[in-house]
Amino acid sequence: MGADENLKKIKTQIIEAVARAGAGGVGQDEQSEIADKRLMAVSKTRNGEEILPILEAGHRLFGENRVQEAAQKWPQLRQLYPDVELHLIGPLQSNKTSEAVALFDGIQTVDRPKIAKLIAEEMRDQGRQLKLFVQVNVGDEPQKAGVAVSELGEFLRFCREEAEIKIVGLMCIPPVDEEAAPYFILLKQLAEKNGVKELSMGMSSDFETAVELGADIVRVGSALFGPRS
Ligand SMILES: *Cc1c(COP(=O)(O)O)cnc(C)c1O
Repeated sequence: MGADENLKKIKTQIIEAVARAGAGGVGQDEQSEIADKRLMAVSKTRNGEEILPILEAGHRLFGENRVQEAAQKWPQLRQLYPDVELHLIGPLQSNKTSEAVALFDGIQTVDRPKIAKLIAEEMRDQGRQLKLFVQVNVGDEPQKAGVAVSELGEFLRFCREEAEIKIVGLMCIPPVDEEAAPYFILLKQLAEKNGVKELSMGMSSDFETAVELGADIVRVGSALFGPRS
């Protein structure tokens, strides 16, 4: 199947999962809008030619995990589709902050005080307002990025009071070899406890579960574009 057919199928799956989660009873237009907003097409490793059919099909929300790679392909695509919304979903190095704030509309991997402060400064200097998410290391895995569960409250306080940035949501990548659902539930509980609204959780293998458990954004790559080489 081509990526545009995969897109339709995934959007239908999202709409059905939203209905199972109890948000049914909305009209078809609204359903389609709900799926458009919830699906982040993860276009890392894909070139412009692969991404174009998804843009042509009307999809606008995309995620990339490297600043450099995104800077090489998105400015051209943006000229064709100015209403694209592009988020950084991979780790941000401090020396790339300026470029990232200029290029992306959202950063989902805010995970340390230094980067929170730098993002704040850059947004002020560039007069830009990005949608910011804190990445939470829900499995408390030593090798993984993200704020430890036990430190999340303090980090969010730092973002709010000291960096003076608004965090709109939480993002997580659960441990690969475990059932994801308990981690999605944990992320939702953490968001509620800390007064943060949006949840970015779920990927190709578990996005339907994530939507059922309250995901506002699912990040889907291989189910949309095919396996990455
Ligand atoms: C690559 C990536 C995804 C998408 O993964 P798939 O399994 O291909 O859907 C989602 N989130 C992040 C942070 C990623 O790096």
